[in-house]
Amino acid sequence: MNARILIVEDEPAIRELVAVNLRHAGYTVIEAETAEAARAWIDAGLPDLVLLDWMLPGQSGVDLARQLRAQPRTAKLPIVMLTARAQEGDRLQGFDVGADDYVTKPFSPRELLARIRALLRRTAPQAEADPIEIAGLRLEPETLRVYAGEQVLELSPTEFRLLHFFMKNPDRVLSRARLLDNVWGDHVYIEERTVDVHIRRLRLALAPGGHDRLIETVRGGGYRFLPR
Ligand code: CA
Repeated sequence: MNARILIVEDEPAIRELVAVNLRHAGYTVIEAETAEAARAWIDAGLPDLVLLDWMLPGQSGVDLARQLRAQPRTAKLPIVMLTARAQEGDRLQGFDVGADDYVTKPFSPRELLARIRALLRRTAPQAEADPIEIAGLRLEPETLRVYAGEQVLELSPTEFRLLHFFMKNPDRVLSRARLLDNVWGDHVYIEERTVDVHIRRLRLALAPGGHDRLIETVRGGGYRFLPR
């Protein structure tokens, strides 16, 4: 369940350095050289955070940030601006266009990572980190583990997120559209039957402890996670 980070930076050396460090820290990294390329990635699926260079050929990073903030779909996308400019006025302008944080080049990868972690923590609701226990099933967001009693269950990242959302909403009928919104984050390009495929896999993963029975299909409604 690694966060996806989009790096928008036209200087290959810096982009590569950042990408290597982020991957090493366990993040999934997408790279774009221009604002236009970044836009295409964002349209195809929302990342968890954008590292955005201020000065880009073509549309500038500042412009892209402003554009992202103006659209409901991307208004809350966490943005860290990267820039070579250190003047206080530019810094303020960076926050003004809606950047959540601001890192001045040259920066150390360690500093950048610390800022990214802090921002991801700030933007993720606190309850996301709390373990949940229902009907003998225990899900731990911090270790990404699910236990059926003592046994650790094998779940893919998507099935983990799906189960997490179910366990946060026990006994509620959850439509496929709602599941897509909350588990995939953004369902513009995903079909609703994708949900059924992952429900099937999740049930299989839960079967060893008999917990597959907790996921109920609600005809015409979607799915429900039984609280007991
Ligand atoms: Ca640049």
